[in-house]
Amino acid sequence: MDFSDLLGDAEKRLESALHLTRREARLEARVLVGYALGVDRAWLVGHGGDTPTPQQASSVAALVARREAGEPVAYILGEREFYGRMFKVTPDVLIPRPETELLVEAALERLPLRSAVRVLDLGTGTGCIALTLALERAGLDVTAVDRSAPALAVAMENASLCGVSIHCVLGDWYSDLGGQRFDMIVSNPPYVSASDPHLARGDLPWEPQGALSAGADGMVEIGRIVAGAPAHLCTGGWLLLEHGSDQGDAVRQCLATAEFLETRTLADLAGLPRVTLGHLH
Ligand code: GLN
Repeated sequence: MDFSDLLGDAEKRLESALHLTRREARLEARVLVGYALGVDRAWLVGHGGDTPTPQQASSVAALVARREAGEPVAYILGEREFYGRMFKVTPDVLIPRPETELLVEAALERLPLRSAVRVLDLGTGTGCIALTLALERAGLDVTAVDRSAPALAVAMENASLCGVSIHCVLGDWYSDLGGQRFDMIVSNPPYVSASDPHLARGDLPWEPQGALSAGADGMVEIGRIVAGAPAHLCTGGWLLLEHGSDQGDAVRQCLATAEFLETRTLADLAGLPRVTLGHLH
């Protein structure tokens, strides 16, 4: 049994346990075996014919078993890449998704160019949206809210790992912001319908359900965010929300009712309606 057998075995086990394609299984096997051994991909290629020690073989087996049981790769590794940077991830926070990069791009395109611009991120989780905005646009004044104290602790740790300073507030959407107003509010709120079978698939059963699901139609939290936004936006302020691919019409309607202008829904890389935005007078 050499390192390449170890990899091949991990690949087969992951492929059948998680119904992955051969390519996905190979990629995950390399990542997990590398992580278990504390080596990079080049090392694995170069040492394919060497024999692992019993400790090495058992740490690989333990990690592969966790993944076989469905534990998300991001929780096993404790990190996930978002917008080109690594963020610490724990089971207290939603795992950053590539489609959320669309929200960040749309926000960056609409931030006013003047200085001292204030941005609010509601339901920050890892902090990946708030911190990416702060890192991409120097001088932004960013506030990140989460109702989960353990999630907010992860956002704070990510802020210190990124070397940026943001205000982290524990609260239920606007509950702890007093009369503060912002130039832009962004959010990737829970929006999956509580009865959506999607919640039982892939990584989702392992993620905080409060970060994912929101009532029968998934619109409850989006509705609360939109309703509270006008009292916390400056003149001309923007609201940008991520949502489910079937919620674009409902979110635009919700924004129009709250008197937002130029409401638009943007499609993600998969071509699915994913972000809706608008601004006030
Ligand atoms: N896009 C995620 C999913 O369906 C859900 C994220 C969210 O609810 N904010 O997997």
